[in-house]
Amino acid sequence: MTEVQHPSIEALAARLAALLAPGAIVTDPDAIAPWLTDWRRRYHGAATLLLQPRDTAEVRAIVVAARALGVPLVPQGGNSSMVGGATPPADGRAAILSLRRLDRIRRLDPAAGLVVAEAGVVLADLHAAALAERRRFPLSLGAKGNATVGGLVSTNAGGTQVLRFGTMRGLVAGVEAVLPDGTLHDGLPALKKDNRGYDLDQLLIGAEGTLGVVTAATLRLVPAVAARAVAWAGVASPDAAMALLRRMQRAAPALESFELLPDESLAAVLAYLPDARAPLAGRHAWHVLIEVTADVADDDPGALVEAQLAAALDAGEIADAALAQSEAQAEAFWRLRESISDAERATGPAAQHDISVPVETMPRFMVEAAAACDARFPGTRASGFGHLGDGNVHFHVRAAPGTDPAHWYAEQVPVVSRFVHDLVVAAGGSISAEHGIGQMKIAELERLGPPARLHALRAIKRAFDPGQLFNPGKLVALAPDRGSE
Ligand SMILES: Cc1cc2nc3c(=O)[nH]c(=O)nc-3n(C[C@H](O)[C@H](O)[C@H](O)COP(=O)(O)OP(=O)(O)OC[C@H]3O[C@@H](n4cnc5c(N)ncnc54)[C@H](O)[C@@H]3O)c2cc1C
Repeated sequence: MTEVQHPSIEALAARLAALLAPGAIVTDPDAIAPWLTDWRRRYHGAATLLLQPRDTAEVRAIVVAARALGVPLVPQGGNSSMVGGATPPADGRAAILSLRRLDRIRRLDPAAGLVVAEAGVVLADLHAAALAERRRFPLSLGAKGNATVGGLVSTNAGGTQVLRFGTMRGLVAGVEAVLPDGTLHDGLPALKKDNRGYDLDQLLIGAEGTLGVVTAATLRLVPAVAARAVAWAGVASPDAAMALLRRMQRAAPALESFELLPDESLAAVLAYLPDARAPLAGRHAWHVLIEVTADVADDDPGALVEAQLAAALDAGEIADAALAQSEAQAEAFWRLRESISDAERATGPAAQHDISVPVETMPRFMVEAAAACDARFPGTRASGFGHLGDGNVHFHVRAAPGTDPAHWYAEQVPVVSRFVHDLVVAAGGSISAEHGIGQMKIAELERLGPPARLHALRAIKRAFDPGQLFNPGKLVALAPDRGSE
């Protein structure tokens, strides 16, 4: 065991040794090291203490002791944050509070369509538990093998089914959390009606660990998928894709996904995956991936999608389309979409932006913002892909060929990102659609406001956590001398 460096952290470890079950206190640097760097390997923190409680009572004991000793805590789940949200500060004065060992499903009620899952339950395990009862938790994302319930709640995660089921805000029926003063908020009973003032559950959702430590959540389940139809269409423009989206929404209430990608993204994926094939024969400027599901076996989503695609072809909205003829082909279509980030990374460095604008505005924004970036940063290439139906795309500006990655990330990305974010704000949008603010976007949120939002964020943070002990340096910039602001 390596000596603990920081005096207050050393005192915390000593105090907790008498309160926690064996194995909860980790000071071995080799065991802590994997949790000091974020998923994208852009942020590196320091910590000499990692705490891994087994239950809510242990979380409370940790929070009370940390508060008494003034030790900041960084809540951490699967550490899959895209914005450095779970990476401790570099000064080494915080302890990591890992929730991964709170991994029990306390109750699953298929009839009520509710599951009470602890914070450390991994999303893929939650999916499996629901499926065993012929139910589904209708939120999925690329990090499902790592992301935990606590992290999903705390980032208000989205994913590929938001179109039909919404983000975590709509899927969480109640939250259990330990607040910075050590009290327990128990929202698990999942009341359908509850008008006792401010909604604490909703405040904690998307709070990025700055207001409370989520220990469990009651989540909504839906029936397992009985059948699905997955289709690929070639379209001339984002406007044409929007016309198809509206057509599909009118005809198919169970439209779950509507993803748009430019041809260059598909080309990058096909170059990256040697065994992959383009779904359509000809070239198309833009591509759409559609999924419609059925909850009951008698429904035929394939026939519905086929009829709508035929009508769209007749109306000139699409140039060509293919309906997956098997589960394997459906998976192959999705693999193309899910490989875009990896494929584009292989083509060179890029400035990536997870942004949203009003849904109807998105087609124009995608075209005009890309043209503005290409003109402003000669040699770079900008394009967006993703959840058109949610008004949320991943807008990437790829560096000019031959650019030194170190120079690009240190010097150019901040300039490019400010330019893109200014365009987003001018379009009435958000600089963080689904990944959160973390430490990556905290300066941009400060810069772009708006003032009422910033004022409220700071006031709420100060009210909940006046000592700034929960996840310092994330989401809310609260300088110590700003106490009266
Ligand atoms: C490959 C990949 C694909 C992704 N795709 C999507 C996507 O499609 N849609 C989307 O919305 N997001 C996506 N994400 C990001 C997504 O937000 C995270 O994967 C997930 O929500 C975080 O879960 P986690 O358990 O890993 O949390 P962590 O990364 O450990 O933490 C995330 C934040 O939550 C806080 N936190 C974690 N646990 C708790 C807790 N118990 N109590 C209080 N605070 C806590 C942390 O302090 C941090 O601020 C993706 C990430 C990856 C790596």
